[in-house]
Amino acid sequence: MNKSPELETALLAARRAAAICIAVYDSLVDAAAKAGREPVTIADYASQAVINATLRAAFPDDAFLGEEHGDEFNKVLSESQRVQVVDFVNGSLNSSFNETDIRALLTPPDGISGRKWIIDPIDGTKGFLGKRAYAVAIALMDGEDLTLGVLACPNLSIENPGELTDEGTLFYAVRGAGAYREDLNGGESVAMHAAPTAPGDPMTLLTSYETGHSNKGLFADVVENLPSPDKTTFGLDGQGKYGLVADGRVTCYFRLVPEADYREKVWDHAAGTIIVEEAGGKVTDFHGKAFNFAGGRKLNDNRGIVVSNGVTHEALLEAIARTGWDSQ
Ligand code: AMP
Ligand code: MG
Repeated sequence: MNKSPELETALLAARRAAAICIAVYDSLVDAAAKAGREPVTIADYASQAVINATLRAAFPDDAFLGEEHGDEFNKVLSESQRVQVVDFVNGSLNSSFNETDIRALLTPPDGISGRKWIIDPIDGTKGFLGKRAYAVAIALMDGEDLTLGVLACPNLSIENPGELTDEGTLFYAVRGAGAYREDLNGGESVAMHAAPTAPGDPMTLLTSYETGHSNKGLFADVVENLPSPDKTTFGLDGQGKYGLVADGRVTCYFRLVPEADYREKVWDHAAGTIIVEEAGGKVTDFHGKAFNFAGGRKLNDNRGIVVSNGVTHEALLEAIARTGWDSQ
């Protein structure tokens, strides 16, 4: 495909961020986990700072909405961790930022272009800390419209979903131009299409790995309610789930966070949504309602996530409705 400057820059930002995440994952993640901290590590901050710096250098008038905050940088991280963040960012960008610069980079001023980048520097931090899967997610809104999405999945195996690999994948999409993947280390871009699986065909269904992120009893009940005679299920951390649906590797992904008052965060779904939609799939909440990513940090009007190949979407919504989940 012909890559726009926005896409080229977002791919560069995602690759730079993923390189930092891989380095921390391989060397430091045990220390961070042992310290008993919230699952926010130096990699979350370094990743978001590098993404913001890369995008802002090219598009200084755009707004930014990222999961991490500059004003928490000092509170959450120790001094030695902050030094490591500065070193990772400067190593990646060949820059000479100090801690104050990093804090400013993490929460840039409001934009004036009408566009907004939505960023999850490590999506699936619990997976990252648990040495499982995770992703780096970048999406672009133009006014109310989601126009671009990039997902870097450093250890997701697309050949054997559910297993980990050293050869990561980049999934991306531009509105109206389709969805693609390429190796994280570079190479050909491959067009992606959601699977043609019908509701009565064998299906693979994904949900979150974490029980705190997905009601597993409800998931099992919905799977039971589906007409397919042959169903394979597994749990996976991060938005790689969307990439697997887009690439036709699995049929669908759905989850309901058990806490009734939990509202999904926009950065957990924005990039994945456009990638699945451009691959011919469908993304809605448990009532079949589309998401509005322009409404701030949360998807306040939605509960539940249903991501499908399109063909099975109605059958999934019916199977979900039959559980009576909304009145429990
Ligand atoms: P997943 O990897 O699909 O399980 O999604 C990971 C994301 O789910 C995290 O980045 C969180 O933002 C979000 N999340 C879902 N449920 C919860 C919860 N109960 N508490 C905090 N974060 C949650
Ligand atoms: Mg996340």
